[in-house]
Amino acid sequence: MKAYRAAILRFATDREPRHSAIYEEDGLLVVGSDPHGTQVVQAVGPYLALKDQFPGVPVEHLPGRILAPGFVDLHIHFPQTNVIGSPADGLLPWLENYTFPEEKRFAAPEYSAQAATFFIAELLRNGVTTALSFATSHTESVDALFTQAQAQHLRLITGLCLMDRNAPAEVLNRAALDGSRNATEQSLIDSETLIQKWHGQDRLGYAITPRFAPTCSDAQLRGAGELAAKYPDVWIQSHVSENKDEISWARELFPASSSYLATYADFGLMRERAIYAHCIHFDDDDRKLMRDTGAAAAVSPTSNLFLGSGFFDYAGADRIGFRYGLASDVGGGTSFSPFHTMLAAYYVGREGQTKPGLSLSPQHLWWQHTFGAAQALGLSGQKGQPAVGNLRVGCEADFVILNPQATPLLARRTAQAGSLDELLFAMIVLGDDRLIERTVISQAI
Ligand SMILES: [Zn+2]
Repeated sequence: MKAYRAAILRFATDREPRHSAIYEEDGLLVVGSDPHGTQVVQAVGPYLALKDQFPGVPVEHLPGRILAPGFVDLHIHFPQTNVIGSPADGLLPWLENYTFPEEKRFAAPEYSAQAATFFIAELLRNGVTTALSFATSHTESVDALFTQAQAQHLRLITGLCLMDRNAPAEVLNRAALDGSRNATEQSLIDSETLIQKWHGQDRLGYAITPRFAPTCSDAQLRGAGELAAKYPDVWIQSHVSENKDEISWARELFPASSSYLATYADFGLMRERAIYAHCIHFDDDDRKLMRDTGAAAAVSPTSNLFLGSGFFDYAGADRIGFRYGLASDVGGGTSFSPFHTMLAAYYVGREGQTKPGLSLSPQHLWWQHTFGAAQALGLSGQKGQPAVGNLRVGCEADFVILNPQATPLLARRTAQAGSLDELLFAMIVLGDDRLIERTVISQAI
């Protein structure tokens, strides 16, 4: 066992609002192995109350530092690291001119491997300890990302990108080499093979990954839904209702469905553990469909602002009551940093011209990128599942050590904070990777 003495931020699970934070000015976090050999939180609370309960356990004293849960990124594209900051006239030209040309390089195993190494290091540098990521339509990209995440003990979920139409040939799924199966059949067989190879290995999980309905045939979406029924503890990830041109296209391709979102439900792709990025242009029928199926939204504010896609309606989501959490959506998103994403979520919440504007509290913003996102993934400790995104007893010991004096302005501004919300908001507004002094990952022993 090992203990850390510092200020500690975590989230309550037994009070309203659900994003209520608990903050110990002088706290103790004790971590050690659970019966499976995974490093988890053994005790957490005020230093004075706990210090005599763990004699002999070494204590690392971190004065002036804050321990906080590792961040959970609900939606990111590992093959788009090199696409950040590409100028384009909205989503569809951005895909065509930048994203697809980069993604075709991931057919090469060595290209995928070096990109995966950089990507995992960048997540950890920014304090992200759990990520749900897209790969490309090449199995090589999936193997490369899982291999590197496993080596770094990161909790990572990814899957083969399913796309069998409406994109350049090099980024579509491939037919069997011997010609015995077409690309659609082969993509579904490859997905099942990858589930059996990687899902549940160490901290890895598989996500069935239709890119978005317009790049998938009916047969591919139907096959994806059959896989989702066969493997209920596997995740599902896709995109929905990001951009009005995309919505019109999806409605033309799937006219029998009652909405773009309903297309996924019609193919059996909405359930718990299904995460849909964006969810911007929803009506209440869509919101109820999210709530009733247990699917969750990956709110991607830097991406939505960068591509001018629109503004996620927090008031609408809370009025109907479906789950959501925050995501970077790199490379449509502009930063790996959870601080930039939380600040952009605040801007999106404030926007009041296209939907009701509101001021999301700093605790709510932080919760969306930690325990709220973990709940959306089904990784909050319910039903015997692992718990991440929080620092209560039993949670996997993934956390960040924050240095609020990392820059002169951060030091000056956080010293003036008169409340927890003021402290958290100063870090959200001024923070970046410099605020993350260290990222600690739970390691099996
Ligand atoms: Zn995306």
